[in-house]
Amino acid sequence: MSSEDQVGEFRYAHHEPRLPALVDGIDAMPCAVAIVGGGPVGLALALGLANWGIRSVVLEADDSVCIGSRAACISRRSLEIVDRLGSLPAFLAKGLAWSGGRSFYRTEEVFRFQMLHDERQRLPPMINLQQYYVEQYLVDEIERRNRADGEPLVDLRWASELTRFTPEADGVVLDVHTPLGDYSMRPAWMVACDGGQSMVRKALGLPLVGTAYEGRYIIIDIHLPSSHPTERRAWFDPPWNPGSTVLMHRQVDDIWRIDYQLRAGDDTETALQPENVRKFVQKHLEAIGEGHLPWETIWTSVYRAGAMTLESYRHGRILFAGNAAHAMPIFGVRGLNSGFDDTDNLAWKLALVLRGAGGEALLDSYSRERVAAFHVNADSAMRSTEFMSPPSRGFDLLREAALSLAGRHPGIASLINPRQTEAVPYIGSSLSTPDDSGLPGAAPGFLLPDFPLDEPAGHLTRLLGPAFAVLAFSPTGTIDAGIAAAAAVLAADNRVPLQRVLVEPRTAGRSSQSDGSGSVTTGWIRAVAPDDVFGAHCREGTAVYLLRPDRHVAARWHVRQQEPAGSFAVRLDEALKRACSATGAAATLAATA
Ligand SMILES: Cc1cc2nc3c(=O)[nH]c(=O)nc-3n(C[C@H](O)[C@H](O)[C@H](O)COP(=O)(O)OP(=O)(O)OC[C@H]3O[C@@H](n4cnc5c(N)ncnc54)[C@H](O)[C@@H]3O)c2cc1C
Repeated sequence: MSSEDQVGEFRYAHHEPRLPALVDGIDAMPCAVAIVGGGPVGLALALGLANWGIRSVVLEADDSVCIGSRAACISRRSLEIVDRLGSLPAFLAKGLAWSGGRSFYRTEEVFRFQMLHDERQRLPPMINLQQYYVEQYLVDEIERRNRADGEPLVDLRWASELTRFTPEADGVVLDVHTPLGDYSMRPAWMVACDGGQSMVRKALGLPLVGTAYEGRYIIIDIHLPSSHPTERRAWFDPPWNPGSTVLMHRQVDDIWRIDYQLRAGDDTETALQPENVRKFVQKHLEAIGEGHLPWETIWTSVYRAGAMTLESYRHGRILFAGNAAHAMPIFGVRGLNSGFDDTDNLAWKLALVLRGAGGEALLDSYSRERVAAFHVNADSAMRSTEFMSPPSRGFDLLREAALSLAGRHPGIASLINPRQTEAVPYIGSSLSTPDDSGLPGAAPGFLLPDFPLDEPAGHLTRLLGPAFAVLAFSPTGTIDAGIAAAAAVLAADNRVPLQRVLVEPRTAGRSSQSDGSGSVTTGWIRAVAPDDVFGAHCREGTAVYLLRPDRHVAARWHVRQQEPAGSFAVRLDEALKRACSATGAAATLAATA
């Protein structure tokens, strides 16, 4: 039986440890993947693998979800990933959606930003949701699936700490400590999702490379019954805390996060003394007109910004994801959000390797793509960090100039834009087929942005499952026989699941084959797009996209006229093999075409 605890309105369980069936002290159940760390990244990876039918064991040292001051802002891209994991309804029901923010210089508002948000977007650009809710909703989904499935695909083991491991040529031996006793297990692959202090990283002696910043932030979460809307507010050099930067964010359950920068020479311990926290918060609330509201401190902590990464996220049979692989400054909220992207990139690749449909080079591509994404993310996050806490007098002067001119010069105001996180393209990926299509829209390596479709489909993301997808935009709503035959042969090989989606513009009218329901007709899911959406992807002929399971474009073609029999089949087959790093696995089609 597990006991329960509560923080604010959030109730959570302390889970009992569990020993698996053992033979000579070794886990008797064969296991392909062990995930070390049941934080948000480990939990998301386990659900992602389960979507591909891959069983994993998650070892979590703690007996509960993480309680304390961690991630709060979850991006649209992360919500799309969470949707595929099955937890989206809970995230949307509880999270606070927001789309913009304001920056003040002293007391003057100098900048307002708005993230892309209109009625065509299915999901808000950002929600605020404390990390303990994020973890809980992922755990709930694991438990829901385990109740429903005869053979649970996620074996989540609480209070189970990895204490030692031995890499071998075709697997890893793990030593696990629990309050009930110790045991070993030997998965084929181990994924280290064990957070910023990663035991796995340290045991392998792998250094993080990058930049650590001097600036220190005090983070205070308070309970405050304020009705101020959900938006990001930043005050630069406010009169009630001169020389500093203060940020304020609403979280759920009337919890508000206030971050403020310590000035050089300020002592961290002194700043964290409860009476100093109280004085600071009260002064801040009075300055923003909320000093009359009752409030109480929930947590205080100190944060130092850093942008650091492992040079490779694959070391033989050991892979790294999330904070174990990289540390990101909190400004621009790329920590957990980029961890979710790691899992979305890794889950399908690891699954294909385990199914024998992808070469191990796929896992090297995981490392290359996500290390490159780290550098793009870190660059944006570091520019935000340098603006929030200038590292030198020079930066300080520049920031002062930008802030003092921003109110009158909108061009300068954009320098203050906090640059929120977005999906990073995998430019130059070895999985992409070189593009000479001349098509508008997302090129290979880029994420294909979600777009609206007529009901009942609603949006592209609602149609796509854990699979590759051949997405054809046809102005007439018909599909060339060569394209259809090529996709049909590949779809028949169930080692690499392949969806087929046919999009036609509204003006094409419903073709005779379309029943208008978005349902499968001779193997294709048919959908109708508004004409401008269609035109953004295809102007004439047929545009065919091969999408990876993470919705990044693997290849695309502009098919202008009837293809010679078999020629499109060869191109599609080659692109799919390249996207799977498959040398022989998906090689059936070229031979049969
Ligand atoms: C104040 C603050 C605000 C933040 N705000 C945001 C934000 O708004 N948006 C955002 O995207 N990110 C934010 N972040 C970053 C975010 O919290 C992290 O990126 C996220 O927690 C990373 O998840 P993870 O699963 O990789 O690691 P963790 O959350 O650290 O989880 C690692 C897990 O591994 C377990 N573990 C460790 N060692 C072992 C072992 N030997 N055996 C078994 N289990 C082990 C731990 O108990 C833990 O549960 C913020 C961070 C902080 C500190």
